[in-house]
Amino acid sequence: MLETIQETMRVVIAEDSGPSRLALERTLAKWGYEVISCKDGNAAWEALQQDDSPRLAILDWMMPGYSGPEIVRMVRAQAEERKAAYTYILLLTSKNERADLIEGLEAGADDYITKPFDQQELRVRLRTGMRILNLQAELVAAREALREQAMRDALTGLWNRRSIIEILIREQSRSTRESAPVGVLMMDIDHFKRVNDTHGHLAGDDVLKEVARRLLASVRPYDGVGRYGGEEFIIVLPGCDEASIQSRGEAMRAAISDDPVLAQGLSLKVSASFGATVFVPPNGVETAELIRAADDALYEAKRNGRNCLVYRHASSTVAS
Ligand code: GH3
Ligand code: MG
Ligand code: MG
Ligand code: MG
Repeated sequence: MLETIQETMRVVIAEDSGPSRLALERTLAKWGYEVISCKDGNAAWEALQQDDSPRLAILDWMMPGYSGPEIVRMVRAQAEERKAAYTYILLLTSKNERADLIEGLEAGADDYITKPFDQQELRVRLRTGMRILNLQAELVAAREALREQAMRDALTGLWNRRSIIEILIREQSRSTRESAPVGVLMMDIDHFKRVNDTHGHLAGDDVLKEVARRLLASVRPYDGVGRYGGEEFIIVLPGCDEASIQSRGEAMRAAISDDPVLAQGLSLKVSASFGATVFVPPNGVETAELIRAADDALYEAKRNGRNCLVYRHASSTVAS
């Protein structure tokens, strides 16, 4: 939030009349704004095209180069194109005919102020602009938070099923472009139903959270860890070949079973079984096929007595 406020403290002014520009510069500087002062429309458009351009602008109506309303139109079109943050624009005009004002507002200006400007009026109008910019920044942040929330599993904070599949698909295409493998682990907690049945659902939830934490602690920043279902997880490890996916999976298996998990004040022995496979371009299989191979390997690990890892080639149904 602080960042937003600081950002909106920068303001572009464009005014060809020297005395009026000087008065604006002085007034705004006195109020703590960082002023980017332009003598004509072209300089103002230049300043408003930068990636980190100020979110606030005061533009004269008539000046050499682009006029105020022309710049407003271009700024609005650019925002649409770039999905850029909103710029609050005040038009400065000595015109006071209604038709002209309507034209300026129709171009997309937020407000206008007539020349010679009254300091108090300018101050309140700028305050309104700041309020709108801050509200807009809050909306964007809220939307981002919602988007993030929609991608996460609420209990563990890991990627949810849909997101981890998307990550896997994305990594498969990257892997194809870069000719590097992608390792996939499917993991399922052993006899998890017993935890719930013996110690209750809350203890079960604590186990899920702690297992998720241990998985996250054993991956690199660019690996993806997702909750696939109840007590099933998928880990996507870009760059891992057959040998490394097995050693990485083995390390995760040990991280889960080596130390007891604290759940509702109880110290519980927890273990998990792992199925591993690798996507290898250019002969890589489809996502569904890859998941099926990891899943088959996982079930074989269960049959082999649990708390172990089985590797399976994605292209065949025969265990390696
Ligand atoms: P296996 O070793 O064969 O995997 O045995 P299991 O008991 O782990 O497998 P099963 O599929 O029979 O049981 C999974 C259990 O996970 C059943 C379900 O109630 C529980 N579960 C699923 N989601 C949650 C959750 O969010 N919280 C809790 N506490 N339990 C969950
Ligand atoms: Mg002018
Ligand atoms: Mg299980
Ligand atoms: Mg299961």
